[in-house]
Amino acid sequence: MTDDTNCIEVVTLTPLAQRFSYRCRTPLPEPGCRVHVPFGRGERIAIVTGSSPCPEGVQIKDVRTVLDQQPLLPKALQALLEFGSNYYHYPLGGAWATALPARLCQGEPLPTPKPELWKLRSDATLPQSGWGLRQSELLQRLRRGNLRMTELGSGDRQRIRQFLAAGWIEAARESPRLHETPLTLRPEQQQAVAAIRAACGFQPFLLDGVTSSGKTEVYLQSMEPLLLAGKQVLLLVPEIALIGQTYERCVQRFGATAVAVYHSGQGDAERLRVWERARSGSLSILLGTRSALFVPLARPGLLIVDEEHDPSYKQQSGWLYSARDLGLRRAQLEELPIVLASATPALESLYNRQCGRYADLRLRERASAQNIPQIEILPLRKKRLLGGLDPSLLSACAETLASGQQALFFLNRRGYAPALLCHDCGHVPHCRRCSAPLTWHRRQARLRCHHCGWEAPVPQRCPSCGGDGMNGIGMGTEGLEQFLQERFPNIPILRVDRDEVHTPRQLAERLQAIRSTRPAILLGTQMLSKGHHFPDVTLVGIVDVDQGLYSADFRAGERLAQTVIQVAGRSGRGDAPGRVLLQSHLPEHPLLLALQSGDYGTAAAQLLRERQQAGLPPLRALALLQAEAQRVEPVYAFLHAAQEYFQGSLDCSGPVPALLERRAGFHRAYLWLESTSRPLLQQVLGASMPQIPSLPGARRVRWSLDVDPQNF
Ligand code: ADP
Ligand code: ZN
Repeated sequence: MTDDTNCIEVVTLTPLAQRFSYRCRTPLPEPGCRVHVPFGRGERIAIVTGSSPCPEGVQIKDVRTVLDQQPLLPKALQALLEFGSNYYHYPLGGAWATALPARLCQGEPLPTPKPELWKLRSDATLPQSGWGLRQSELLQRLRRGNLRMTELGSGDRQRIRQFLAAGWIEAARESPRLHETPLTLRPEQQQAVAAIRAACGFQPFLLDGVTSSGKTEVYLQSMEPLLLAGKQVLLLVPEIALIGQTYERCVQRFGATAVAVYHSGQGDAERLRVWERARSGSLSILLGTRSALFVPLARPGLLIVDEEHDPSYKQQSGWLYSARDLGLRRAQLEELPIVLASATPALESLYNRQCGRYADLRLRERASAQNIPQIEILPLRKKRLLGGLDPSLLSACAETLASGQQALFFLNRRGYAPALLCHDCGHVPHCRRCSAPLTWHRRQARLRCHHCGWEAPVPQRCPSCGGDGMNGIGMGTEGLEQFLQERFPNIPILRVDRDEVHTPRQLAERLQAIRSTRPAILLGTQMLSKGHHFPDVTLVGIVDVDQGLYSADFRAGERLAQTVIQVAGRSGRGDAPGRVLLQSHLPEHPLLLALQSGDYGTAAAQLLRERQQAGLPPLRALALLQAEAQRVEPVYAFLHAAQEYFQGSLDCSGPVPALLERRAGFHRAYLWLESTSRPLLQQVLGASMPQIPSLPGARRVRWSLDVDPQNF
């Protein structure tokens, strides 16, 4: 059979489940190459997934152009996308579109790497004579060592090109070297580093280390021998905001040329450049968020998932993958060790460790002399509060400030007040498109919906009764800031939330201000609770986490425990011991009591037992079939039809409304699909998904399947 009778199979870079065949007259492109194909009346870019002889008697269109000579991703990553497409039941083409930099999806050619560093080829046959003076000087320099393009003048650069054309030199790769002396490890760190360094092939580790135990130092020293040997490391963090400080540590240790970052806040051109550098092996550490998981590495050596418990690792739209979970699969496919690290591991990860799937690494002590802080619970019931704060929290704050230290207040609610209430008629302005009250942003005099972004001016009078009794209920960070500023007029207040800090640069500036201002009050949401190192904070006030104690979300307790331990961990990281005060209207709640010792493990074990008793993940496998539409009836009609369809093969419950029933004008509900056996769940879903579009009502809703859901 000759080439021109052959067909390739492709997926388009869209969430279309179907694969398409095209005839290809040129030599067949390998799987993983892009091709231009005629599609409908237009043209599409598609990814080759396989080849086959052309079927007889069927009309098949020709491929227009082959865009790549080499697959864009190595086989292991192609297999990862295939796996992720099957596991999350999302079309393979959509997975490719998520994984590739936007420029490549648009058909741009792969950038040719511009080697910055040149070396003399060991097999170069150099002419004995005919050397110009400058040429032989350049040759001498090359004999002494590699030459960097940026060190050369324009004449020498020209000569370098001649040398290259003559085949005397080739691109050199510089392994990073140590730019500073590593810290002396404490025994626990030492053990962790030794275990990771000794790993060979696929091996997952759970590095369970209390806040400020020096996990970053463990990463750096685990990487070190790999990097010096020319290998590459992929280090994932959950948010762009956390890249900064880890980047600094990596650069200090291994030099700026060794490290590059990859995240969705970068421009498309820059992302493509970093992607190419990773793929060609010219960088050593790739530090990035979720999407960096799919960046190919020429010589991968180790994967690290920092703050592995963070829900940001789960993508929330389109392909609903978890970068942590697919990270494990990538490590397996590339035969690499992988470190999942956290002070507050996800219950899933603790369960996997319990089942012996992860090697157990612990850091129980802090790197500084300070112990992990205890958590004192302040019962709020019947107490007279000032600005929503217990007077004893305020006096602790005053003491802290008087001693020149910093106090941190954690309140996970932006705005001045979470809602407006008319004192005359009880009216609460709601978002017109969501089933949620509007948040009052007083400084900008706006009401905003935190779910869909809709906003409106603050009404002068109650829109319902026309009275002038409108006032805020509850308190957000803006309101707390104002209260604290009045209470402590001479103390700088540094607020960190999404209203105050919009870019990584602003965050870096704010963190810098935090490091250099004493005394000070720090105030913020989640943004402040995660990962940052504040040596001067000695008091942490946790203002309101009660909602997590009675939420309908079965993960609320776990999130609360993680948040409390993480926020508490911002305290006492320097030389002075820390104090943590937590306000609650439910001071006897078993979860709060379990957290008092500051030990996450106790609370997590309790939560895991509850999940077991309730038959919830991670003990059972769960997927949600979600549906939404502008009218409510089709949502339930479709989900009822789906329930009938799945009944008998899986444990089905619902349909139930989403926690936020209406969002951006859409009514939302879902069906729970569960099984004690993950393979069974997968098998049933795999067989059923192609049938879903033909269920009654499927065309009248937007539906999606969320495997291992994180949000409800
Ligand atoms: P974690 O990521 O576990 O919260 P970090 O890696 O940020 O902790 O470390 C907290 C602080 O302790 C950092 O300032 C770090 O430089 C310091 N540190 C870590 N390991 C050691 C060590 N072995 N000796 C001295 N200081 C250390
Ligand atoms: Zn809204």
